[in-house]
Amino acid sequence: MSNSKYRPGQQKYTAVHKKLAKRNVQVGSLTCPVCEWCAESTEHVFTGCSLAVEVWAAVGQWCRLSPVLAFGVKELLEIFKEAAGSKWGKNIIHGIIMVSCWCIWLARNEKIFQDKVISGRVVMANIKRLSVFWLNHRSKYKELSWDSWIKYPLYVM
Ligand SMILES: [Zn+2]
Repeated sequence: MSNSKYRPGQQKYTAVHKKLAKRNVQVGSLTCPVCEWCAESTEHVFTGCSLAVEVWAAVGQWCRLSPVLAFGVKELLEIFKEAAGSKWGKNIIHGIIMVSCWCIWLARNEKIFQDKVISGRVVMANIKRLSVFWLNHRSKYKELSWDSWIKYPLYVM
């Protein structure tokens, strides 16, 4: 492979595919189904892909965080540490980050299995809807205002 064609994550992904192919498991394309530009890897799907970049910019703006520039999933899961407010403020941001990863993953799967293109805007709407559902059912915050939530999720702090 020439250096000019190397893309991050490609080698690891190819190794996994080679092992699966040896066992006669259909592996499909190596290219990311969402952006169709880069080799797909965990890091790419959640941080480098155009959809992920758009979603993290919107999540950062919504949660009033400094710009989200993560190069790995571990970094993403540590963003909550900079969140404003109490322990609950950090918990809410942590939950939103996890819900965001889940929604990015679902959008990727919809593209693969149903050939549906899910925009960053739709992913953000899903993140807001699912995260408020999670918070209503898993915290002391039971009566959240939807109008306030979609403007700023830490309005309750
Ligand atoms: Zn991609």
